[in-house]
Amino acid sequence: MPLLDNLLTLHRVDSQVRALSTRVESARTYFNAQEKQLATLERQKAELETQVRQLQASVHAIEVEQTAAMERVNKLRSELNTSTNDKQYKAILNEMKVLEGQKDEIVKRAVEEMQRVEDTKKRLEVQVATIAERQKIRELAKTKLDECMGDVGQRLAELEAERARAADLIPERDRQLFNRVADLTEGQTMSEITIVDLRHREFACGECNIELPFETYARLSSNSDSVIQCKACTRILYLAESNRPAGEKGAKSTRTQEEQERLDLAKDKAKFEKTRKL
Ligand SMILES: [Zn+2]
Repeated sequence: MPLLDNLLTLHRVDSQVRALSTRVESARTYFNAQEKQLATLERQKAELETQVRQLQASVHAIEVEQTAAMERVNKLRSELNTSTNDKQYKAILNEMKVLEGQKDEIVKRAVEEMQRVEDTKKRLEVQVATIAERQKIRELAKTKLDECMGDVGQRLAELEAERARAADLIPERDRQLFNRVADLTEGQTMSEITIVDLRHREFACGECNIELPFETYARLSSNSDSVIQCKACTRILYLAESNRPAGEKGAKSTRTQEEQERLDLAKDKAKFEKTRKL
């Protein structure tokens, strides 16, 4: 087979390998993003839990303070009954008055702190619900990734073997060139020459549309072993089989129309089967 046909075979397999790898990669990227988001949500949840615990401790401290103040008031009340002189009586009354004032302030603080506990608990509930939702999405992403790796893994191994076989038919230098262009163009390595106007000798690169000189067309139509790159987009140029001189088309031209139709049908079917598998 001419070199360009071998390059086209390699291109077909190579772009399938790249497409499959991209599918696995994007499924993995999506899954990793979900994991990261969940980790952030879990961290925020832990912070809220700490806040709830601190606020509860603060409420407890206020309650202790309140009890101590009440005990002191009760003690003062009994001392008031047993007070022996006016000065002592007034001193006790004063302290009771101060304590009453403090009591209101303590109650106010307790109410505020309890409200904060409630608010924080509510935020925590929302956070827990959000996490539950994100976990479902993460599970879906995981299933998708596993499925993708399962489907693609087998197929990718087959295609990689096929690619290696296709690459073996190509001389080292051209293979290296192919790989360089494939990386540059994300697998869009080959470009079919567009015949804009044969009579006026107008040709273009099928991928980037830049005008191509007649010599490129002439060299490719006379020799399918010439490797010519598009000067603009670096892709390897080729002529569609139907645009090659009759001799190049080989056995195909000797087939009857019926045979050809049957072959085309089988080819389409195989192509469909392959796409369905992906
Ligand atoms: Zn081009």
